[in-house]
Amino acid sequence: MALRPYVVGNWKMNGTRAMLAEARAIDRSAQRLMKVEVALAPPFTLIHAVHREAEQIGVGAQDCSPSPDGAYTGDISAAMVADSGAKFVILGHSERRQGHGESDALVLAKADAALAAGLKLIVCCGETEATRDAGEAERFVTGQLAASLPAAIDAADERLSVAYEPIWAIGTGRTPTVADIGTMHRAIRKLLVERYGEEQGSAVRILYGGSVKPENARELLGADEVGGALVGGASLTAESFLGIVMASVDLQDA
Ligand code: PEP
Repeated sequence: MALRPYVVGNWKMNGTRAMLAEARAIDRSAQRLMKVEVALAPPFTLIHAVHREAEQIGVGAQDCSPSPDGAYTGDISAAMVADSGAKFVILGHSERRQGHGESDALVLAKADAALAAGLKLIVCCGETEATRDAGEAERFVTGQLAASLPAAIDAADERLSVAYEPIWAIGTGRTPTVADIGTMHRAIRKLLVERYGEEQGSAVRILYGGSVKPENARELLGADEVGGALVGGASLTAESFLGIVMASVDLQDA
């Protein structure tokens, strides 16, 4: 059975306790919108507070360490993330791959640590503009993903989602065409089926991320093989994030 669309807000390094009101408003509306699975990934400092506010939405982290514990100043282990109330973790976001030099091997090590701690995963991938212009986007993204994904996932428990986020579309207001998103998501689906088999590989939700807004969400979320959205800037207010969630509900009803 196909899973519900998954709409996830990535707050990045935004938010103090003053933003809990937005999380609460998102949660209360999500309770009426059961056709879509809604989640937020606030900064580590707010996970526990958002978790306490949330009655309906999922709460996750934006990263975790590959190590279980020890002398890693400033790092947060997957077990600590789970202990804070988070149920999932976003891994391999381009802002970590590029800004913190994270390799595919490190993303994979974090994915294994997160699974061992009982967390769900959203593994991100995406090409630069230069790679797309060179006609290499599909080869690059599937290669990056193949090297970042865990070797095996459990059939029943929806442990894995993938987010395709072209780097040139993140925070820029630019988006790929619906046709280009469909082409990339089909290539990712093929990889997932090769890796995990027909049943498990077909069940993984492939989210699109990159300048999703209430105004373009219906079009982007309607592209082939798109199972939801990973949303940055537009997830920071309940009004704009819920506009995207509503677009996803509308698509279900169409
Ligand atoms: C992101 O960084 O995950 C993202 C999709 O950002 P934005 O929606 O702001 O482009």
